[in-house]
Amino acid sequence: MERRNLLDMLPADALAALLEFVERENLPSYRADQILRRLWQSPSPGFDDITDLPMPLRARLSEVFTIPRLDIGACERSVDGTEKFLFTLSDGQAIESVAIPDNGRLTLCISSQAGCALQCSFCATGAMGFQRNLAAWEIAAQVREMLLLDPPIPVSNIVFMGMGEPFMNWPAVSVALTILNDPKGLGIGARHITVSTVGVLPGIVAMSERPEQFRLAISVHAPSDELRRQLMPINIKYPLSDVIAAAKEFDRRVTFEYVMLGGVNDSGEQARQLAALARECHAFVNLIPLHPGGAGNFTPTSGDGIRRFARALRERGVEVAVRKSRGKDIAAACGQLRVERLGRRSPGRADQHGDVQVA
Ligand code: SAH
Repeated sequence: MERRNLLDMLPADALAALLEFVERENLPSYRADQILRRLWQSPSPGFDDITDLPMPLRARLSEVFTIPRLDIGACERSVDGTEKFLFTLSDGQAIESVAIPDNGRLTLCISSQAGCALQCSFCATGAMGFQRNLAAWEIAAQVREMLLLDPPIPVSNIVFMGMGEPFMNWPAVSVALTILNDPKGLGIGARHITVSTVGVLPGIVAMSERPEQFRLAISVHAPSDELRRQLMPINIKYPLSDVIAAAKEFDRRVTFEYVMLGGVNDSGEQARQLAALARECHAFVNLIPLHPGGAGNFTPTSGDGIRRFARALRERGVEVAVRKSRGKDIAAACGQLRVERLGRRSPGRADQHGDVQVA
């Protein structure tokens, strides 16, 4: 019989599987809770390490179940404390997470797919192409692995801003969201979990139907269909007006992400257009400095230019934050480490969205 992966299911289902198991083994039911706690709440590297269980039970557990690990292929630490992890998956695929400490919080930027199919012109994960969807456990285990480090990295916030488009992998992302949030899972508050999307409409609807207060960030990047189509091919399938309408209907406040591309989307007129859209759905705007060396031939907007753009939005009653760039010295941008290690592209050319700071 194939062993069941206890991490690749909702905590409630893992508990049910464990209860069934302990009953079959004629063991007291409290054993099931004891094992469940070691999946996420107080993670154990393996069954053998759950030393408060009798040895024969540990052996029996590993015959019936698995609690797989993600292999940390590489880790780099920035002078500013940002740490970047490259995980190697069992089929050789590589994904990245970035741990960003800030003011007592620790935000982990996680991946939902290996590669990405969407080909946004400035993003190098797109240039990498799509490899495969991650399983729910592979998404949530990026956090679990942080807790298994010595010393552990306690994670307080999650952003789905690593590799991939979370709403193109909704079934797995949806399970992962429960694992992240459930008190019997990782117990991270829903308001501390942000899903970032290019605007895949069915995904926005699916997330709005969840009762938890997960946060939604939309990669807008252009205030008109014409420009957005050029920057983000997905705009053909999901045009800006539909995305804005969906954001308006979302019952919680959304964040617009807007990467500042010099001479492309940073004019005064574009600030006015963006302000109108943001006001329409009462969105918070996050201006993202373009990471140098991303895909395509873009120039970052200057610091002054970004401040001017931010001011223009503020003057029109829009709340704005300019995202800090972090971990530049370690190429702490999702995609870069994978690129360096796998030698697919030169390290200077990689996608750059690891430097996330979500308000
Ligand atoms: N697919 C999702 C989530 C991953 S990308 C999305 O697009 O929202 C997370 C954020 O990083 C997105 O806003 C993306 O547009 C941005 N990003 C991609 N490449 C970047 C670069 N070179 N510099 C700055 N931000 C970038």
